[in-house]
Amino acid sequence: MMTDGNASATLQNLYQSGRSLLAAAFANHDAHPGREAALLLEQIFGLPRGGLALEGHRPADPALGRLYAETVRRRAKGEPLQYLLGRWEFYSLPFSVGPGVLIPRPETELAVDTALALLKDNSEPVIADLCSGSGCIAIALAKNLPGSLVYAVEKSSQAIEYLYRNRALNQADTVRLVWGDLLCPSACLPRGERFDLIISNPPYIPTSQLPGLQPEVRREPSMALDGGGDGLDFYRVIPPLYFGWLRRGGALVLEIGYDQGQAVTRLLQQNGYRDITLLQDLAGQDRVVWGRRP
Ligand code: GLN
Repeated sequence: MMTDGNASATLQNLYQSGRSLLAAAFANHDAHPGREAALLLEQIFGLPRGGLALEGHRPADPALGRLYAETVRRRAKGEPLQYLLGRWEFYSLPFSVGPGVLIPRPETELAVDTALALLKDNSEPVIADLCSGSGCIAIALAKNLPGSLVYAVEKSSQAIEYLYRNRALNQADTVRLVWGDLLCPSACLPRGERFDLIISNPPYIPTSQLPGLQPEVRREPSMALDGGGDGLDFYRVIPPLYFGWLRRGGALVLEIGYDQGQAVTRLLQQNGYRDITLLQDLAGQDRVVWGRRP
C-alpha cells in the first residue's frame, strides 16, 4: 500500500513507500527505484536535487502527497520517468519533454561531440538538424557555437511545441525552427543556403521490432523510432537528398543503431561522401557515422 499523504506522513515516509512500490513493479528489469522515487518526490515537493536527505523529516503537504502517490503509480505502470518529471538533461542543458517527443538519450551526445569537433575551426557555421524532436542536438550545438546559425527541422506538430519551449528555456536564439518534412528540403530550407554541417538522429528501429520494445519506449512517438522495414529508410534518403545542400568539405553526421554501421557506411560511400568515419559510444557500440562532401 502506498502512503498517500495522510496528515502525519513525512517526506521520508512517502519516499519509502514510493521506493517499495517501484521496486516491486520493476522487479524484472535493471532499474533504479530509489533514485526514481527520490527524483519524483523532489520534483513534486519543489526540493533541490538531493534535498530529500536534508528535508526528509518534514511533514508532507497532504495534497502534494496524493499527487506523489499518483505519480509513482503511473511510473509503476510504465510511463517514462522523464515524461513524469517533464524535464530531462542533455549535454548539461535542460529540456522540456513529455508525450509526443523523443526523450534525449545520453548516447546522442556523441553526435554532438562529433559535430563540435568537425566545426572547431569554423566560428560561424551554418547547420541543419533533421528530425530535431525536442531540439536537443540543435540547441546543444547552438549553445556551444555562439556564432552558428542552426536550422532545426521537425515534422511533428507535437514535437515542435517542445522545440519552441526548449529554445526559449535555453535562450538558444540562433536556432531557427522549421516545421516541415525533411523529404522536401527545398520547402524547409532557404533557397541558396549551403551547410557546413548537417546532422540527424533519425528514426532507425525496424518496424517489426517496435512491439517488442520496453514499455517506456513504446510510450514514445513511433514516428520518432520507426525506421521502416530494415530500419534504414532515412539513411537511404538523407545522404543523396542533402548532398547538394552541403558546402564542399561540409559534413553529414548521422546517429545510427548499434548494428547499422556497415550499412550506413556503404550508403555514404555510394552517394559520393569521403573521409567516412564510424564512431563508437561509451558502451563500445557503433553509434555515429560521418562523411564529407568532397
Ligand atoms: N533529435 C532528437 C533526438 O536526438 C529527436 C530524434 C528523433 O525524433 N528521432 O533526441
